[in-house]
Amino acid sequence: MRGYRTILVERVDLGQGTTGRFHGLLHSGGRYVVSDERSATECAEESAIVKRIAAEAVEDTGGLFVTTPADDPGYADRFLAGCLKTGVPVQEIPAAEALRREPRLNPGISRAFEVQDGAVDAWKLLWGNARSAEEHGARILSYHWVTEVIREGDRVLGVMARDNRAQEMVRIEAAFVINAGGVWAGEIADMADCPGVTVVPGKGIMIAMNHRLVRTVVNRCEHPGDGDILVPIRTVCVIGTTDVKADSPDDYSIDRAEVQQMLDAGEVIVPGFRQARALHAWTGARPLFKDERAGEGGEDTRHMSRGLALVDHLRRDGVSGFLTITGGKLTTYRLMAETVVDAMVEQMGDARPCTTADEPLPGSEDGRHYWLGSRLAAQEEAMADDQLVCECELLPRRKLIEAARRRPGMTLDDVRRALRLGMGPCQGGFCTYRATGILHGLGDAETERADELLLTFLQHRWLGLEPILYGDQMRQACLDDWIFQGTLDVEHLPVAVPA
Ligand SMILES: Cc1cc2nc3c(=O)[nH]c(=O)nc-3n(C[C@H](O)[C@H](O)[C@H](O)COP(=O)(O)OP(=O)(O)OC[C@H]3O[C@@H](n4cnc5c(N)ncnc54)[C@H](O)[C@@H]3O)c2cc1C
Repeated sequence: MRGYRTILVERVDLGQGTTGRFHGLLHSGGRYVVSDERSATECAEESAIVKRIAAEAVEDTGGLFVTTPADDPGYADRFLAGCLKTGVPVQEIPAAEALRREPRLNPGISRAFEVQDGAVDAWKLLWGNARSAEEHGARILSYHWVTEVIREGDRVLGVMARDNRAQEMVRIEAAFVINAGGVWAGEIADMADCPGVTVVPGKGIMIAMNHRLVRTVVNRCEHPGDGDILVPIRTVCVIGTTDVKADSPDDYSIDRAEVQQMLDAGEVIVPGFRQARALHAWTGARPLFKDERAGEGGEDTRHMSRGLALVDHLRRDGVSGFLTITGGKLTTYRLMAETVVDAMVEQMGDARPCTTADEPLPGSEDGRHYWLGSRLAAQEEAMADDQLVCECELLPRRKLIEAARRRPGMTLDDVRRALRLGMGPCQGGFCTYRATGILHGLGDAETERADELLLTFLQHRWLGLEPILYGDQMRQACLDDWIFQGTLDVEHLPVAVPA
């Protein structure tokens, strides 16, 4: 938007990092009003902007902070004072009113506060930003893995990236390089020989339940803790999360004890929570910034700041043409971009103002927010002469074919990120083999690649299914297994099952 020729380099697919593995909450700021005042104010200001510029990706659910019988009743007054101090809009409502709005809530709640939380669809947000960038002339190179930051003396000149599709190295020269590598930002700073940018991976687990047990985002009115937020997203709701220091940002393993912890935590907010069907579990790693040189922070990730962190490598390391932006929240993504590009134009001696807070993303021009029936409403007309590939997510065949034509060589995981394939209650039981057949029929995937696509996708879905197998989802998994063994004999396909 500021008129530079820009290339975005992503090692896998957009949304494969933390942004595709988060809780889905557009923070009002309420969560941080006592523990992290700066983040609270950043979230309050930015969530209002994101609701405006990315309306299509946001469901304006509103939010509640409720004091359950398990919470310290004294926190509520500190919370209210914190909201007033940090500029987070809040209103106390009678507990009975909260229960009227959310009948499944714990009937023992003693206080309730209304805030302006929302639910955000990370993929819609990402694709909206990507389309906007492309409309302004940017190029997006996914499956390009940066392996080297090219330096000449004290100046960064560009990067070397491995094109994992074409299996070749690409040299990208640039007047400026911005490192927005999230939890991997320290690794990328190291490549530029700017050591000590430590980004601690604060790993957290989330579980999607197959109903919207609540319509509003529900937070426990307590110091931020584990499993204290329930977010309604599309047709499901998501309980989360934990926060523990991981050894590696690429550790996506799921600890069964944490699954139990989340289900127990859900019971505190909504009694009977365990009786709902758990669809899928996943983890992600928060980018928690700790500058070794500034000697900030400790080992307790829950108490590390969620504020954004700009690292000016010219001031810090004497290296020009290179900036790092990390930390922050998804809610503050736009502010992070504004902050780092402001620093870039300053270093370049340019004065181009930021307009991202004012220009809506493509698809959000009419300012209408996502609502639960919008996908059905959008598909209903077209469905008369189309077929459904995925019944759970209402994915028509036409959309799959359009996506395959737009992005040749896409994997089924890419389709999931773009079109939500396999994210519903059957977790891919019916849509996966149909989608594979369609891509194969289009000539987009030779037989062997089609087998590999199918197996890789099933394997990835399984990672998030296996730790939560109980009740109805166990029955579903058995049915899916029968479908794939019975119709395709998947265990004996002539390709290796991916690790
Ligand atoms: C459990 C959990 C719950 C959360 N919940 C919320 C929430 O409800 N609301 C909220 O606002 N925030 C939430 N967050 C925080 C939020 O998700 C993150 O702050 C945000 O998504 C980080 O975005 P990012 O663009 O900085 O990083 P990322 O999305 O991780 O993007 C960085 C990208 O860099 C790429 N990359 C890395 N190395 C290379 C390389 N060498 N070459 C090329 N590309 C590379 C990665 O593949 C990745 O896609 C949550 C985080 C976690 C972990």
